[in-house]
Amino acid sequence: MDEIPVEQIIRSRRRSIALVITPDGHLIVRAPLKAPVALIEKFVKEKNGWIRKKIGEIRQRPPATVHEYEEGEPFFYFGRMYPLHIVESGNNPIERTDRLCVCRTLLPDIRHRVKCWYMLEAQREIHARCMWFSMTTGYTPKSIRITDARQRWGSCSSDGGINFSWRLIQAPLEIVDYVIVHELVHLKQHDHSKKFWAKVKEIMPDYERRREWLRENERLLRI
Ligand SMILES: [Zn+2]
Repeated sequence: MDEIPVEQIIRSRRRSIALVITPDGHLIVRAPLKAPVALIEKFVKEKNGWIRKKIGEIRQRPPATVHEYEEGEPFFYFGRMYPLHIVESGNNPIERTDRLCVCRTLLPDIRHRVKCWYMLEAQREIHARCMWFSMTTGYTPKSIRITDARQRWGSCSSDGGINFSWRLIQAPLEIVDYVIVHELVHLKQHDHSKKFWAKVKEIMPDYERRREWLRENERLLRI
């Protein structure tokens, strides 16, 4: 069997070698600072079967969404599809009815304007959702921010705040909820240890199903 080329070796103060397959199907190796190259090569060779399987899975997934902003193009909001509809005039420059209605005057700047609209919606909706989970679980973030992150749907900052990518609002509500719970639990449990997942499960017994959905469909959110 041919070997998959290693795209990059990232060395850090870690104890073991780990393989990462990027969303576009490349292989990255994370290794301890002093791990010999021969050892890394041996490790990659041993895991060749696993690497092939993972890359195969990624290639079968649908490609990332690229918007052309043409009439009828699908846009997602809490998992529901809204075809883009260019209107001559309206009460608001952008309005969500059973379609995503955008005023023609916005066309020259449409990419930016639609993104700003999503960001404002995310600010309101994800914030409210997060407050609700905060109240029911007792995990309280110092701040909730909406970011432009492309790869990470949620993250936790060292000052006790949590961040969500506006892109998350395209996902179904139950997936948004999972990301919120995940980040809230990180406020007290910073790693992905067994203890962390046990706490997530306590709040959301079916989190694994939601996590799997996100893994399989995240490319759709990466607009
Ligand atoms: Zn995490």
